[in-house]
Amino acid sequence: MDDRIERILLRREQIDRRVSELASEIAATYPPDGPGLTIVAILAGSIIFLADLIRRIPRAMKIGLITVSSYPGRSTMSQGPVILQDLRGEIEGRDVLVVDDILDTGRTIRCVVDQVRQFGPASVRVCVLLRKAGKAPADVRADFVGFDIEDVFVVGYGLDYDDLYRNYPHIGVLAGVTSQAGEGSR
Ligand code: 5GP
Ligand code: MG
Repeated sequence: MDDRIERILLRREQIDRRVSELASEIAATYPPDGPGLTIVAILAGSIIFLADLIRRIPRAMKIGLITVSSYPGRSTMSQGPVILQDLRGEIEGRDVLVVDDILDTGRTIRCVVDQVRQFGPASVRVCVLLRKAGKAPADVRADFVGFDIEDVFVVGYGLDYDDLYRNYPHIGVLAGVTSQAGEGSR
């Protein structure tokens, strides 16, 4: 499976340690007696990160899984990302933590946070495993970030290329794929 991995950027042990640190930061941010925590996770790239992270946050929580399609169809490039499931009941009056695999241009996070806000949450924060340094506009912020990485196309630990490599345990750079070329595969 890994014959096309050019180099490993983050090894599974390193990811594992950082996920534990993130979980501690998150637990410290949300007291046990708060209004209730809802994790809104963006499929499918966040699945492995989500599974590892939530088991290390000792808080009662609800989990909402959403699908965001940046380009819903080939002929509708101008359409923005859309949230396909309605989570109103899990968001209103609660602390919401949006979880995604990677913050790149920030379009996905901006869209999700805007939609979550419309449902009247007590608070909205963002957690991403990876952030491509300097790419998202200043007003699209993540409150919890695993790693800042260079602007390369990465796969593994949930991240795909053409729906492959999600089960690759490390995070690696795929040979012959530029950051832009991978954008069709979300
Ligand atoms: P943004 O909306 O911030 O530009 O992009 C975020 C989404 O693009 C992520 O949720 C992820 O699905 C996808 N993406 C961005 N960069 C990469 C990358 O390097 N590798 C993979 N596999 N997906 C990426
Ligand atoms: Mg994604």
